[in-house]
Amino acid sequence: MSANQSLMWIQAGACSGDTLSMLCAEKPSFPEFLQQNRIDLLWHPSLSPEPVSTFVKRIDAILQDQLALTFLCIEGSLVTGPHGSGMFDSFMGKAKIDLIRQLAEKADYLIAVGTCASFGGIHAAPPNPSDCLGLQFTKTEPGGLLTPEWRSRKGLPVINLSGCPLHPSTLTGALSMLVQELPMPLNQWHMPEMFFSTMVHQGCTRNEYHEYDIEEIEFGHEGCLFFNLGCQGPVTLSTCNTELWNGVNSKTRAGTPCLGCTMPNFPQDTALFRTKKVGDVPSVLPLGVERPNYMAYKGLARDAAPKRVVKREMDP
Ligand code: SF4
Ligand code: SF4
Repeated sequence: MSANQSLMWIQAGACSGDTLSMLCAEKPSFPEFLQQNRIDLLWHPSLSPEPVSTFVKRIDAILQDQLALTFLCIEGSLVTGPHGSGMFDSFMGKAKIDLIRQLAEKADYLIAVGTCASFGGIHAAPPNPSDCLGLQFTKTEPGGLLTPEWRSRKGLPVINLSGCPLHPSTLTGALSMLVQELPMPLNQWHMPEMFFSTMVHQGCTRNEYHEYDIEEIEFGHEGCLFFNLGCQGPVTLSTCNTELWNGVNSKTRAGTPCLGCTMPNFPQDTALFRTKKVGDVPSVLPLGVERPNYMAYKGLARDAAPKRVVKREMDP
């Protein structure tokens, strides 16, 4: 591990949700993580005690190659409106997208913190009046503020740590890997496989209800939330049920369907708490499941369900 690493965090079109999530990181907390890994925090809009003039001086020093920038973390969508000027989101009279473009060229690693920076997120949902983009993707399509070919000084594309907000352990985990210079395989949307290769469905305490097709039609009960209540757990890449939030909970454990917030197409233009179906079969099936197999299995599963499952005697 080299001694003088640095991190700059910039908020573009953001609600600060990822910052709030980052502040919930535990074992280590984010400040402990920085200290343990000897990372100088050059700027964070909520954590830095220095005046904004210091931020400006550090930006200048980075752009003039007088200050090394290891990690550039961007939170929020890249606001390109009106008419491509970016002036809907400006800093010191200049478009923030231009500043981000310039700083990106100086960073060893460029990290999209959250779904907005990764893919555009909620701000880029139709009609997208401020013309928001992700850093290197727009929804599922390659190409955002930066071209698909863009690579950082260390040869990596934008590392997309998606989530609305991102899970704090994903942030500290990914930064740890980069600090230790471990290989970081990325999936087709540049999300690290280490944190985005399993589904929210995995580890869900309602899984046995799902397997036996015991569905709920209203909230507050124990069964699976997939068939009627819109749960995206079986098609959403995230660790939410294996790396619990605040170490204790997840949406599905609390009885709320997963909304699929880590995925490039979030938010989808459908009702959040209703499963779209063809007849009584969900129109989107768990990843990798073939429709004919699903149809054949569905009836059998319910018939084979043990009594304790049918009677919903298990804790949700
Ligand atoms: S509630 Fe969602 S995540 Fe949990 S088992 Fe059902 S479909 Fe999977
Ligand atoms: S459970 Fe789903 S909606 Fe909730 S944080 Fe995880 S991926 Fe996002």
